[in-house]
Amino acid sequence: MPELPEAETIVRDLRSRLPGRRVRDVEVARPDILAPGLTPAALADGVRGRTFREIERRGKNVVLRFDGEVRVVVNLGMTGRLVMASSPRAAELRHIAARFRLEDGDALLFDDTRRFGRLDLYDAEGWAERSAALGMEPLADEFTARRLHELTRTSRTPIRNWLLDQRRVAGVGNIYANEALFRARIDPQRPARSLARAESARLRDALREVLAKAIERRGTTVSDYRDGTGAEGLFAHELQVYGRAGEPCVRCGRPIERRVLSNRSYFFCPKCQR
Ligand SMILES: [Zn+2]
Repeated sequence: MPELPEAETIVRDLRSRLPGRRVRDVEVARPDILAPGLTPAALADGVRGRTFREIERRGKNVVLRFDGEVRVVVNLGMTGRLVMASSPRAAELRHIAARFRLEDGDALLFDDTRRFGRLDLYDAEGWAERSAALGMEPLADEFTARRLHELTRTSRTPIRNWLLDQRRVAGVGNIYANEALFRARIDPQRPARSLARAESARLRDALREVLAKAIERRGTTVSDYRDGTGAEGLFAHELQVYGRAGEPCVRCGRPIERRVLSNRSYFFCPKCQR
């Protein structure tokens, strides 16, 4: 499931390809990938004739910014992919849900096997409002140990769940929450507000470290994720707990355990994480 590092990798791939190019038209083959209330015609009318200005990321979302401050915001859901039609791997796509046809003959394809992804259209004001509802960017300068500590003070929510709440910290999903908590040696079930100052500091550093490393490795492909060229990410080889139930802890050798919290698995070392 794409999280911050996967969205960031796609953004970087598309950033070197799209800005300056103009949209001829948009074709939506699967209207159920559009946000509620958005029609294929409204999406096409919103971006037809517009030029890509910048490709950005907010949380797990890929933000396509056009002239006139129009934005198409792409949530990749579980299996969403954004790949240029001119990419050699585009031929592997089997579930193209939307095509942004460019005037130069190329196209940006949105492919989504399971169709939990979402495309939405925003003007400047609408996007400012939507973006304000999302939490802090964990890689931004403002995400300090002190800030994380302050934010966790009022919440009894288990820290694993707290990290997944996009209104608190934007972009972290189950894979990186598990990995960061292992690196910070914190039990995923601990109430957020029980973290001591030193633990908040370790968690902040671990989160940034694991996200930065995953971006460097172009994301984690467990099954479906592909980057902006259609290739797999390589961070799956470096996961220390996620998906490793029964395998030895890299720190102490004890088997990693899998448990369920709020209907979602988590992975941890009962000896190293307290
Ligand atoms: Zn251990």
